[in-house]
Amino acid sequence: SAVSSEHLREIIARQLPPLLGVEHLWMVTRFGRDCQLVLPERKDRQHPVFGGGGDWSTFPMTVHQKVVGVVGVDISRGRLSPGAQRAMLALVPLIAESLYTAHTIEQLREVSSVDPITGCATRRSGLQRLTAELKRAHRSSRDVAVLMLDLDYFKSINDRFGHNAGDAVLTSVGRTILQTLRISDLRCRWGGEEFLVALPETGLEQAEQVAASLAKRIAGTAATFNGAIIRTTGSIGITIAAGDDDPAVVVARADAALYRAKADGRNCIRVTLPD
Ligand code: GH3
Ligand code: MG
Ligand code: MG
Repeated sequence: SAVSSEHLREIIARQLPPLLGVEHLWMVTRFGRDCQLVLPERKDRQHPVFGGGGDWSTFPMTVHQKVVGVVGVDISRGRLSPGAQRAMLALVPLIAESLYTAHTIEQLREVSSVDPITGCATRRSGLQRLTAELKRAHRSSRDVAVLMLDLDYFKSINDRFGHNAGDAVLTSVGRTILQTLRISDLRCRWGGEEFLVALPETGLEQAEQVAASLAKRIAGTAATFNGAIIRTTGSIGITIAAGDDDPAVVVARADAALYRAKADGRNCIRVTLPD
């Protein structure tokens, strides 16, 4: 996966001061309107910059000739050595560029409508689409089936095989969901290991069939991670939206059905209809 700002911050904090032979440094960036204190960490209360103290030699950070930040290097114990100066001149542009790249990727991810791990819609875009589908169904007096799927005992997969293995399972389940359901269906990662599915113009009987084949394919698909073969199952709650076009109400009803599926032993499908 791409390098995150958080990861870069750790590397810089760990490696740069000893490389320069100094104890403290600080770094601020500003990309567009987004100002960030990269270093020190806010919890590092001992850091002299928080007391307004210290003696600092400052270096501008530039990307494409635009200043995007400043680094301050502690010179309270004497001037920087020529070697440290050269290191700064070589490294600061690379650091600025890396932080800028990470920031850009993170921003794109935030506005993206696709969840990178599963390939399904993000919660935000899924909710938008669900709202639109419910309105449409209301106008045309057609049914929309809404399914909430939650993987069973997912925590134990993370515990046994590690978080990256858990992510690999999520990727595999995401692929199964995308392959099993139509493009015209809403396929959304609602939360950690929870998926929301909406099937336009679909009644209960058909929704139950879709849910059954989805559950069967998830149970029949193994993910592999570092040689380990990992299987998982999912529980599904189904509801039908007919007159009610409030997405929160519809999702709550699918959740209630899901809760019963969990209580009834998992790897099964339950239905909750409007009263
Ligand atoms: P059950 O649903 O059958 O009741 O058990 P569970 O263990 O799946 O239930 P729970 O909802 O309590 O735990 C879900 C776990 O999923 C918790 C969290 O650690 C894990 N999880 C959530 N999001 C991610 C993710 O993006 N990657 C990984 N690897 N794990 C995640
Ligand atoms: Mg779960
Ligand atoms: Mg869950």
